[in-house]
Amino acid sequence: MDNMKYLKKELSRDEVFNLLSIYHNWRNGPDPRNNYPIELELLEKDLENNTFKVFFGVFLHIYLSIFCKISIVLNLHKLAFWITEKRLKFNHLSVCHYACSLTNVYTDLGIMYLRRNKIEKATECLNKSWRVYPCPHNTSFGFPTRLSRLLSAYPTAENSVEEFLEMRKIFQSV
Ligand SMILES: [Zn+2]
Repeated sequence: MDNMKYLKKELSRDEVFNLLSIYHNWRNGPDPRNNYPIELELLEKDLENNTFKVFFGVFLHIYLSIFCKISIVLNLHKLAFWITEKRLKFNHLSVCHYACSLTNVYTDLGIMYLRRNKIEKATECLNKSWRVYPCPHNTSFGFPTRLSRLLSAYPTAENSVEEFLEMRKIFQSV
């Protein structure tokens, strides 16, 4: 199952750094309300001027996220994968799409792969989980560490875990 196919824009490490610097300058610059950087528009694009979409998206994602976590706890793997596929497919309807919302989906997906002993796939999810846009949440609280903690037990994931934790710190320092 290729759950990665729904990601519209996959960011490189350099693009992430570039976005972080744009985000930092914007937040600390004069009058952020009226100087929204064009580079961050992908974050807003699908939701602007559509209140119904925002409410529908928030409801849908809270609902899917809760059921995904319940399915993971109950070891209902097929259901959890199906829900995750929907979370990725409708990521553009979540409030922080391409940002913390995407990190959460990849974190859950990685944990699911890990439960199936697919270390390589789980590591790939960890690598994707920080290649996201900066948002008020991931720059304040950082990324969730559930997946990196679990993966730290596997030597093959060592570099990815290190890189993830380093990126987490960088996001929080913006
Ligand atoms: Zn966010």
